[in-house]
Amino acid sequence: MEKFNLPKLPYDYNALEPYMSEEVLTLHHDKHHAAYVNAANTLIDKIQDARNGNTELDQKSVLKGLSFAIGGHILHEIFWKIMAPASSGKNKPAGKILEAINKEFGSFERFKTEFSETAKSVEGSGWAILTGAMSIIQVEKHNVNFYPERKILLCLDVWEHAYYLDYKNDRAKFVENWWNIVNWEEVEKRFSE
Ligand code: MN
Repeated sequence: MEKFNLPKLPYDYNALEPYMSEEVLTLHHDKHHAAYVNAANTLIDKIQDARNGNTELDQKSVLKGLSFAIGGHILHEIFWKIMAPASSGKNKPAGKILEAINKEFGSFERFKTEFSETAKSVEGSGWAILTGAMSIIQVEKHNVNFYPERKILLCLDVWEHAYYLDYKNDRAKFVENWWNIVNWEEVEKRFSE
C-alpha cells in the first residue's frame, strides 16, 4: 500500500487571520494532521509486517483505525486547499459552482444556512461536507456517517482543535467567520474537474 505524506500548506501559517489564527493553524497542520498521516503509515506497516509473516493482524481493528486515520488525512488535505486568505479575492462563489448551488438549494444563502447548520450540529467532533452531487454530508469523527458520493468539493472541520483556541466554545462564530476564508476558486476547480 502506498504511504502518505503531510502536504505543505498552500499559504503562510498566519494567512487566514483574523478568522483562523497562526497558532491554531500551526498546531492543526503540524500536530493534528501530522498525527493522522503517521497513524495511517504505522497501520500500513503493520499490514505489511503481517503479509511478511512477522506478526498476526487484528484485521477489524487495523481497518477501523485505518479508516479513521486516512479519513482524517484526506479531509485535512482538502480542507487546506479549499481555504484562502480573505484578501485573496477568491472568497466569493461564481461560475458553474454557483449555478449548481443555486439550482440545488434555491439560493446561495440557503446553501450557506444548510451547510452552516450541518457544521454547527455535528455531535462531538466531525465535518460538514459538500459533494459534487450537491449533497451535504455530516460526518462524525473523520469517517462516521460518511457514504461514497462523488468527489468532496468543500469540507469544514468542526473538531475543537480547529477553533477552540480562537473561539472557545463558540463553534457557531467560527462557522460564520469561516465563510470569509473559503477558496471558491478551488471549489469551482474541483467541481469542474
Ligand atoms: Mn482537524
